[in-house]
Amino acid sequence: MLRRTKILATLGPATDKEGVLEGLFEAGIDVVRLNFSHGTAQDHIDRANAVREMSKKTGRRVGILADLQGPKIRIERFKANAKHGGAEKVWLENGQDFALDINMDKEGGDETQVAISYEPLPKEVKAGSRLLLDDGRIVLDVVNVEANLRINCTVIVGGYLSNKKGINLLGGGLSAAALTEKDKEDIITIGQIECDYVAVSFPRCAEDLHEARRLLQAVGCYAGIVSKVERAEAIVPDVMDEIILASDAVMVARGDLGVEIGDANLPAVQKLLIKRSRELNRVAITATQMMESMIENPIPTRAEVFDVANAVYDGTDAIMLSAETASGNHPIKAVEAMHRICVEAEKQAVVRESDHRINEQFQRDDEAIAMSAMYMANHTKVKGIVALTESGSTPLWMSRISSGIPIYAYSSQEKTLGKVTLFRGVFPMYFKLGENQDHAEVNRNIVQELRKWNAAKDGDKFIITKGDLNGVEGGTNALKVIIIGQGLTP
Ligand code: PGA
Ligand code: MN
Repeated sequence: MLRRTKILATLGPATDKEGVLEGLFEAGIDVVRLNFSHGTAQDHIDRANAVREMSKKTGRRVGILADLQGPKIRIERFKANAKHGGAEKVWLENGQDFALDINMDKEGGDETQVAISYEPLPKEVKAGSRLLLDDGRIVLDVVNVEANLRINCTVIVGGYLSNKKGINLLGGGLSAAALTEKDKEDIITIGQIECDYVAVSFPRCAEDLHEARRLLQAVGCYAGIVSKVERAEAIVPDVMDEIILASDAVMVARGDLGVEIGDANLPAVQKLLIKRSRELNRVAITATQMMESMIENPIPTRAEVFDVANAVYDGTDAIMLSAETASGNHPIKAVEAMHRICVEAEKQAVVRESDHRINEQFQRDDEAIAMSAMYMANHTKVKGIVALTESGSTPLWMSRISSGIPIYAYSSQEKTLGKVTLFRGVFPMYFKLGENQDHAEVNRNIVQELRKWNAAKDGDKFIITKGDLNGVEGGTNALKVIIIGQGLTP
């Protein structure tokens, strides 16, 4: 059963174990995430190589997304605490005082204070600001700031606090630039990996994304840029569109975003971000806590089943697993669960109907052909669409239209095949035109490939879109209808 919604799995210690990567491939992952917030450069290089090798072995192309850490602000470390068996953590009571300090010993945190390394923080908060630690589990209100060095707070919601937990400011507004020194070093590593996508964490505006693209291109990396929408500033209407347009794909980064804007605002923002991304011809990824309970348990909760299905109904291209695969107990089962939930959700009529751009004028002929192919496919009995593509634009335009019909992206460009791994309903197929082939011969070869993968049988109607067979970008100028086994097609 073909699944249209793509599964993006984060790699980590749990997937390094013998046989797990192979199991993830069998369970149907489409893209992996290398999370540069954890692990060494060598870990990421090794994992990328393992994925490329597994792709060769299985004939299944899996995309690679490198995710930069960005300016995640964190507390530093606690001293070994005898009260908690020597663990480096403290217990904070509601109502007690607690301070964050730029100057103190980075390893010297205790029940009254802990160090932070992000020097501007004391200047960017004031009395009454609310700080959320550890994804909002701990809430601190700022009482005052001493000499731009020390932030004195009251604990509003207490609990255990341990080393290196993240800090967010409620409502957003921290100045930190999206690309840190560490990110710039990691970009050099990424230049050696040949990623299909690179994710920028905490972008504030389009310029953050342009800068990432420039730095990546300087090291020879032409990966697609994923903007992780996880700051309150990024969802202001005009800024949201500007960020979407500067990206190839947009991630609804529900973890950090939920902390900044409040969890109750997330569902509406998820729907809006996905809708807007599709309207602007961009790809959408829904991320974080989709199968959270499967870090421990072999089956998802009912709420998680609904979350995955609802993301499919919202029109997401891909759904992401984080700790569930990177460090969880059941990485393969988490992918299997996502797969079966998507397949069922995709049977619903609502995800197959579309009035996408129906009243728009199109600027380009290749774009108009892509839209026409989908319109025909959705309104007649078509089994599938084959798009011969250089850059991947044709299958991207096509896949923005909701449909139940598979789109096979045929390309000889490895980069293009890597990119389409993230597009909903698009399946990458390696295909090289021979010298001096005519259209009839190309059609025959296309059908042979479909048959090889059991994607077509006698009597099936297919649509083929292609150009003048010269491998030029933007060259799609033909829409051909074929019936398998009839006329000139084998
Ligand atoms: P992260 O990003 O997993 O890198 O933090 C996703 C999110 O914040 O939801
Ligand atoms: Mn995040």
